[in-house]
Amino acid sequence: MIDDTSSTTSSFRDRGLEAALDAIGEAGFPQAEICEAEEHVGTPSDQEISRIRNILEAHSVRGRTMHAPLRSTLATMDAVSRNQSVETLKELIRMAGALNLTDLVVHPTNSRELAPYADDPQMPQRVRESVVRSLDEIMPVIEQSAVRIIIENLPYTPIPFASMAELRSLVEPYPTESVGLIVDIGHAYRLDRDPADEIRASGSRLCGTHIHGVNVNAERIDHYSPTMGDLDWDAIRQAYADIDYKGPWTSEAFKPSDGQSPEELAREVRDWMTAWLS
Ligand SMILES: [Zn+2]
Repeated sequence: MIDDTSSTTSSFRDRGLEAALDAIGEAGFPQAEICEAEEHVGTPSDQEISRIRNILEAHSVRGRTMHAPLRSTLATMDAVSRNQSVETLKELIRMAGALNLTDLVVHPTNSRELAPYADDPQMPQRVRESVVRSLDEIMPVIEQSAVRIIIENLPYTPIPFASMAELRSLVEPYPTESVGLIVDIGHAYRLDRDPADEIRASGSRLCGTHIHGVNVNAERIDHYSPTMGDLDWDAIRQAYADIDYKGPWTSEAFKPSDGQSPEELAREVRDWMTAWLS
């Protein structure tokens, strides 16, 4: 069986991209999700593409996917920032294509940007329209670059697109090879949604997975080792089998619960994932 596990480079924001890949490889992961952290990915440009390409070509860890910056979302409430966001996403798709990555992970919205509109009755509809408009504008670039955009569930309500069912109906009109979904297990848990149900609701459009556990004693409970919390990982595994999931398994655990170093945490997650997937 192909080892399709990976780790986000955001586990190693304390160092540059090359050193982050070194650490991911040493923990046992064959692949990485290149995260948006400035330490790892700069502003998209030809120079930045060749810098990252040189690092990836020389490295045994394969670049699998890329995570767009959290501020570069599909929906914003004002036209100026939406245009900026769409332009950045287009550049990131071109960049991911030039680096032979398969998918670009994007967030549909940004809770901080939408917070002032929480009581605005028109907000959900404006967000929905904004997301569709952005996707339509980005589609020609996706089709040229052979990179899929995959949209992630976020742990915020009453903001739209927090459930996989709603995201699934959003992506339904778009081609499977261009637009997909990524389920974040910890985010589903934070919204009291059953991750297994969320996986099944995503069905054949699921192309990515963010794995992390929860620490219910923390203020922000997610992004801990999957060994933490009371997630039913057997039921979750079964749900992936039910939909015949073929995407990568990406660790997004980067918060230590008992003083582990980033290296120790990555190794712990990798060992857990190997056992869980076997
Ligand atoms: Zn995530």
